[in-house]
Amino acid sequence: KKITIAIDGHSSTGKSTVAKQLAKKLGYIYVDTGAMYRAVTLYAMRKVMVTDDKLDEEALLRHLAFISIKFEFDKDLGYGVVHLNNENVEEEIRLMEVSNNVSKVAAIPQVRKMLVAQQQEIGKEGGVVMDGRDIGTVVFPNAELKLFMTASAEKRAERRYNELKQKGNDVSYEEVLKNVEERDHLDSTRETSPLVKAQDAIEIDNTNLSKEEQFDKILSLVKE
Ligand code: C5P
Repeated sequence: KKITIAIDGHSSTGKSTVAKQLAKKLGYIYVDTGAMYRAVTLYAMRKVMVTDDKLDEEALLRHLAFISIKFEFDKDLGYGVVHLNNENVEEEIRLMEVSNNVSKVAAIPQVRKMLVAQQQEIGKEGGVVMDGRDIGTVVFPNAELKLFMTASAEKRAERRYNELKQKGNDVSYEEVLKNVEERDHLDSTRETSPLVKAQDAIEIDNTNLSKEEQFDKILSLVKE
């Protein structure tokens, strides 16, 4: 039977790496819900509805009906990458500027409502590994397997910093740590669907786990 696997947790805990590996291994669909929030944020940034110190929520809400978020399968990558109004924005949504603004946009209830409905539609038949912040609590509260991933903020910032550097981004470790901590705070304290561990989720703290150790552990949970 094809099950639903919900992976939630803090930012930069390697949720997407695990989710992709798992989907590949099981022949399931991988859905990166963070990419959807990032794509809406990118749209809002391009229209200058959101900047570092402002958010024009009303304007964004008026535009919601014109924002199409879709996943298109990428043969090279082996999973669906996010498209904003038919443009592949997979790379652009990972930029630091988008990371800095996404939690503000993700706190808007109507934005969440729209994306959650879409996520439920994509995953309705099971056979899906979905990663995000509210998958096990809101999107698929009946998911057969729920994981909640965490690690120390310093460790997560270090990983993200190395990743961004590798892609040629000009950022400092301090800046990345600040973003990680700010997003944790905003994500956990927002009113609509705050980031909390579902009661029946299995917590995985990977501060001191290698990717291989972690994957073995998770695979054993799937088999149970
Ligand atoms: O997973 P990722 O770090 O790319 O997500 C970016 C941001 O999108 C998170 O910091 C959070 O604010 C928001 N998000 C969310 N709910 C989800 C997935 C992401 O609020 N299911």
